[in-house]
Amino acid sequence: MIGEGHAGETWYEATANRGAAREPLRGDRQAEVCVIGGGLTGLTTALELARAGVSVILLEARRLAWGASGRNGGFVSNGFAQSMGAVAARVGPEAARALYGLSREGTEYVRKAGAGVIMGEGWLGCLRYSDPAAKRAAVAEMQNGYGQEMRYLEMAETRELVNSRRYFQSSYDPTAFHIHPLRYAVSLAAAAEAAGAVIAEGSPVAAIARDGAAHVVRTAEGRVRAAHVVYCVSSLGRGLHRPTGRAVLPVATYVAVTQPLRQDVIRTRSAVSDSRRAGNYFRLIDEGRLLWGGAITTRVSEPRRLAERMKRDMVSVFPGLGAPRIDYAWAGLMGYARHFMPLIGGDGTGQWWATAFGGHGLNTTAMAGLLVARAIAAKDDEYRRFAPFAPQWAGGPLGRAAVQSGYWYMQLRDRLDEARAAG
Ligand SMILES: Cc1cc2nc3c(=O)[nH]c(=O)nc-3n(C[C@H](O)[C@H](O)[C@H](O)COP(=O)(O)OP(=O)(O)OC[C@H]3O[C@@H](n4cnc5c(N)ncnc54)[C@H](O)[C@@H]3O)c2cc1C
Repeated sequence: MIGEGHAGETWYEATANRGAAREPLRGDRQAEVCVIGGGLTGLTTALELARAGVSVILLEARRLAWGASGRNGGFVSNGFAQSMGAVAARVGPEAARALYGLSREGTEYVRKAGAGVIMGEGWLGCLRYSDPAAKRAAVAEMQNGYGQEMRYLEMAETRELVNSRRYFQSSYDPTAFHIHPLRYAVSLAAAAEAAGAVIAEGSPVAAIARDGAAHVVRTAEGRVRAAHVVYCVSSLGRGLHRPTGRAVLPVATYVAVTQPLRQDVIRTRSAVSDSRRAGNYFRLIDEGRLLWGGAITTRVSEPRRLAERMKRDMVSVFPGLGAPRIDYAWAGLMGYARHFMPLIGGDGTGQWWATAFGGHGLNTTAMAGLLVARAIAAKDDEYRRFAPFAPQWAGGPLGRAAVQSGYWYMQLRDRLDEARAAG
């Protein structure tokens, strides 16, 4: 898969039991809704539609959760890829609070997946430079502005948990948790089928055409006639629906998993991230292995020496890890809109979209599935809260170059912040 941004065997595939592939779509079918894309967005949408008694067929090009949904970091927390400060600046404090509330509903939806899917609790967010006043203020803003449970930790407390000279003050979010995303996807698919949804794998959609009041969705071997079509293809199927396809920018990011480790530098079982803008995040998982994510590029091919690069990052933060062997390393593709917020909406003709969740897609894909399913099944219009974040052209290759320069600029600012802090 190199070149498509989804390269390398994942620890998730090695530890989830996905079972045999479902049959592709063959022949002519009819449903009220055709969902395109079997990532977490499509699966949640299909499940919630089926639960509401709506007939639904989901078409996935390859295997379910083959994209970002089955290969992400697994950290679930409230909020969006965009900071709440920027969201509030755009829509005002009240609308921002309502959006945050929806993102929290997404988090709580995922939490219901329960044991087997949930692997750990809590999230420690560490500064890579010392700024106690700024960290305290950020925690207070989330507590007071958004009712977010959160605790401030001094440097000494932080280093009790993550013993690195690179880390200073931190915040602890007890409402966040860590999941096995592929097991989560498998459980959503099973629940959707139990509720009556039909799921086809190996069924890339080639085209969608209008036929009277309906839409006809065509694959190589079959067709679905449906009153509603929901595009849940992220950055992997941008040619299908032009208004959202051209608004989504593919961004590659990476995860590695070490051999089982005996170490005494990471002493928490919570998820940890740091303040680098294209930052590191990690957590100890089964058998004492370290799952480490980080690095963001718009180059969708896998760097040749990905495992070594991830190891260098780990050891630069925790020299005490020695030279851990990397057992798994992989890349995945996210989709971002220019405003870093999800694109959720409909055009009034039965075409709906839910995409561009960026690096904050676990709670927000659940939220989007709920919103779109309620819109179709019950004419609920809460999804319109995302109207201020409409699809805008992401700039094609030029947009990609601009984002890449933006990342380099962010990396430079990270280095400057840290150098300043080091005196
Ligand atoms: C490495 C990595 C780490 C991440 N870490 C985190 C994290 O820790 N926390 C967090 O909240 N988020 C994280 N994310 C983001 C999160 O994984 C995504 O935002 C989310 O999974 C997007 O889900 P999706 O269903 O919209 O898209 P995808 O999972 O990309 O699914 C889209 C699906 O559409 C299918 N498709 C495309 N074209 C067609 C077609 N023509 N016909 C049929 N099907 C088609 C694809 O095959 C794919 O299965 C991470 C992402 C990556 C890549």
